[in-house]
Amino acid sequence: MAHVDPVERKPFFHYRPGTPTVTLAAPGCSFRCHYCVNHRMSQYGRDQESPWTAHPVDTGDIVAQASALGGCVALSYTEPSLAPEMTLDLARQGKEAGVDVVWKSNGFLTRAAIDLCAPALAAVNIDLKSVNEVSHRRFTGGSARPVIDAIRAFREHGTWVEVSTPLIPNVTDAERIAQVLAEISTDIPWHLVRFTPAYRMRGQDPTSPSALAAAADLGRAAGLKYVYVERALGEAGRTTRCPSCDFPVVRRKVWSLDENRLVAGRCPDCGILVEGRW
Ligand code: SF4
Repeated sequence: MAHVDPVERKPFFHYRPGTPTVTLAAPGCSFRCHYCVNHRMSQYGRDQESPWTAHPVDTGDIVAQASALGGCVALSYTEPSLAPEMTLDLARQGKEAGVDVVWKSNGFLTRAAIDLCAPALAAVNIDLKSVNEVSHRRFTGGSARPVIDAIRAFREHGTWVEVSTPLIPNVTDAERIAQVLAEISTDIPWHLVRFTPAYRMRGQDPTSPSALAAAADLGRAAGLKYVYVERALGEAGRTTRCPSCDFPVVRRKVWSLDENRLVAGRCPDCGILVEGRW
């Protein structure tokens, strides 16, 4: 499948705000998260209710489409690292056309896979679902350690990294996750995602706005400069504020850019650099 939406939808908040993004997804994922909203695509090969519904795409057409829009190409919804040859091919053609390639990934990659793919990627949004091994294995089927290492490794490569965490009520330890992220860098944007009942967790309540607000406070208390909640806290939850003077430097609507007031990546009020790829 392929469609176009703003890069905020991936979500990326510190990478080229408002950029039209041609998004691709192929069936399959290295995790089997109990709450996967995309399970009909991600669990292909595991579940009978996840049939093969994909169609081949022409990477040249995809890059041309993104180029015509002045946009980028994203691989999302399932796990892009399962088909690194596609990323490399898109990046090779994108380089000639001035089109970036970005990922939404579960981060469950070896160092060799990161070394192969990171040079092809302008930005990666990695899901960090838990930093507790028992909880992570229980809900995803895989270990948390490689995911944490991947956040660090992609940053070492110079790929722009943002992190998303689905906040499962009474399960997700937001404070500990925020602390682990802050140990890597307080400049990493952290997206708190509302859990919605899906797949094998259809009976569980969704995350309340108050729980999202409390988790955002924990993120800021841990030292993270950029903590976001896309919808449940209104515009305030998705506004980038200058970490020095608190000026609102980027305002967003739901899943799109409203206003970017940064000047060459700097706050127009106090002049401090706001980390990102602006
Ligand atoms: S990592 Fe993402 S796509 Fe894969 S199973 Fe988990 S929620 Fe679904």
